[in-house]
Amino acid sequence: MLAMYPFLAEASRYIRDQGLSLEEVLDHRAFQGARNWARERVFTSLETGDLPNPPLSRSAECLEALYAYPLARILVSCVGDGFLVRRFALAEADLARRRLSRESDDFLLAASHALGLDALRDGAFRLHFSDFLRATRQLRGKEWKLINQPVREGFVLLSRDRFLRVVEGHLRNRFEAELPLEVNPTLLRAFEEEVIELHTALRDRRSRLQGEDLGTIRVTNFPPCMEKLLATVLASENVSHPGRFALVSFMNNIGLGFDEIYQIFASVPDFRESVTRYQIEHITGQISGTVYTAPECSTMKSYGICPGPDRLCETITHPLSYYRKKTRMSGTAKKAPADRPAKAAS
Ligand code: SF4
Repeated sequence: MLAMYPFLAEASRYIRDQGLSLEEVLDHRAFQGARNWARERVFTSLETGDLPNPPLSRSAECLEALYAYPLARILVSCVGDGFLVRRFALAEADLARRRLSRESDDFLLAASHALGLDALRDGAFRLHFSDFLRATRQLRGKEWKLINQPVREGFVLLSRDRFLRVVEGHLRNRFEAELPLEVNPTLLRAFEEEVIELHTALRDRRSRLQGEDLGTIRVTNFPPCMEKLLATVLASENVSHPGRFALVSFMNNIGLGFDEIYQIFASVPDFRESVTRYQIEHITGQISGTVYTAPECSTMKSYGICPGPDRLCETITHPLSYYRKKTRMSGTAKKAPADRPAKAAS
């Protein structure tokens, strides 16, 4: 059980009771498997976020899994990159949710108590509203607003699936807050190779996405709103749902294809391949046949995602008009992708 949930206090206690320092674990050949597993956890968090969940039956496998978790946290801390921390926290929390989803209600409730959540079960799961607010702060969508929840006597009523999502949110926040840990030169030396590889992977990822041109598209001709949304995504920060919709539809309208848009969104911390793929396919018309048009300025303003117009904004009413006008003015039109007509408006 501890190997499946190595973030529980009981697991840390067990490791502490073994009396081995992390430096000793890193040096010992018997722990090579744990070290390999830690490495895989961190690289997979960065690349896909989809951590494997193999069955743990043999005691050697359980021990490796148990030690892999603190070693992975040390590796992330040695790199000390905020984006990697967020990707790792998200992937670990997702794995914990998948594992907890196979447990009984009693186990799930006991685990939530061990994680410090004020939860009850009485038909539905109930969670104190203050814990609900904290745990869901990174979850987007109206369905996670407290005002939209059934609340009784200070407790939010949740189905088992939604309770699992809240526990996942709680874990994600906790993992993010705990990292990076302090690392000493011995630990840095032990992970020297992996740290170099991870820095290279992070650098490649950023340089792929930070070019001034996106294929035939001039980012310098973007209106302030889209420039800001794109910069937020490239800085690996989360963008609100309306912001994502606006940016994806805008980029599609000016001629970027699915693959290019998908690559850009692969840098957001809560990137989930299937969800991102579905959202982009939906907005770009690959699922429904409807190609959505980016929202006009008045809608952008009502969403609070117009950062304030510049002088050119004062002459237009739509971000696409801004892009077309600026492209013409700067003489950088390339086959006028912005003039490609959208089939339907949102
Ligand atoms: S006025 Fe329109 S084009 Fe300009 S920043 Fe705001 S939403 Fe974008």
